[in-house]
Amino acid sequence: VDEFDLIARYFQPLAFAAPGLELGIGDDAAIFTLPPGEALVVTVDTLVEGVHFPVDFPPAAVASRLAAVNLSDLAAMGATPRYATLALTLPQVEPDWLAAFADALGVALAAAGMSLVGGDTTRGPLTLTLQAMGSVPVGQALTRGGARPGDLVVVSGTLGDARAGLDLALATPWADADDPLLARFVAPTPRVALGCALRGVARAAIDVSDGLLADLGHIAARSRCGARVDVGRLPLSAALRARVGLATAREFALAGGDDYELVLAVPPDRLAEAAQRARGAGVSLTVIGEFVAGAGVECHDAGQAFVPAARGYLHFE
Ligand code: ADP
Ligand code: MG
Repeated sequence: VDEFDLIARYFQPLAFAAPGLELGIGDDAAIFTLPPGEALVVTVDTLVEGVHFPVDFPPAAVASRLAAVNLSDLAAMGATPRYATLALTLPQVEPDWLAAFADALGVALAAAGMSLVGGDTTRGPLTLTLQAMGSVPVGQALTRGGARPGDLVVVSGTLGDARAGLDLALATPWADADDPLLARFVAPTPRVALGCALRGVARAAIDVSDGLLADLGHIAARSRCGARVDVGRLPLSAALRARVGLATAREFALAGGDDYELVLAVPPDRLAEAAQRARGAGVSLTVIGEFVAGAGVECHDAGQAFVPAARGYLHFE
């Protein structure tokens, strides 16, 4: 199998005729146009075997995570996914691995409406890089810098599940793929529809990749304000509480990463509208605190100061 057969066999099927696409895989570069009045939103993420995922992680899981981390970045900008490029570095050509990887990537990209328009294929230590391109009406992107004191700190879905899933993935390699906590780690659900729905309603957004405290801290710093989080209001799944207990569930929710939920700044008078739009996007929102004047992120438990055990996230690395 040479490089061109490999692309034709495994990756050409991920290319579909998308609106605005003039030229996809096969030329020296791709060409597309965006709808009038839309700005290009671009993000790229790399997964390195042994660093971002365990050696011998199933190829479908690698693909799911690769798509999800990129789509989550587009979601956090309020962007509509459109096109992707894929840079693949492979130690050797393993048809079974490639077929499973490409199938799962194709499912994830197609579900998001993203057509594969190009890439690069090289030999070396297993490394996957996906560049995701989306678009947003000019001036309407959700950024990290728009929060103001008095805005509510709002999160989507539940937090901490993926941190428990990481422990499961390391302890019992993909034994029980149906475990909801493991699924949160292996195949996170990027909140793409939510991000788009909250354009013009939320004032700032970020996706939770490094942990709530770390990522909320990025909004606070960029917005030149502080934030207060009530740990009693953290949205915790029943599965997480059942597995690790309330105290650890709270710690996982505060400092665990990889949940790929959105953290948002919502003005109080827009909360009802935000919640309604979130329901339309199939996800719940929870108010967990507020932005305040000052700097940094503080936690409390019903008014009592609460000091989390860890603030950062212990990545797989
Ligand atoms: P060039 O030498 O001009 O960079 P390549 O030989 O690297 O071209 O790639 C040939 C074509 O195949 C290009 O259109 C490129 O975008 C596409 N391509 C290469 N690798 C991949 C991949 N892994 N997935 C999708 N498209 C790819
Ligand atoms: Mg090339």
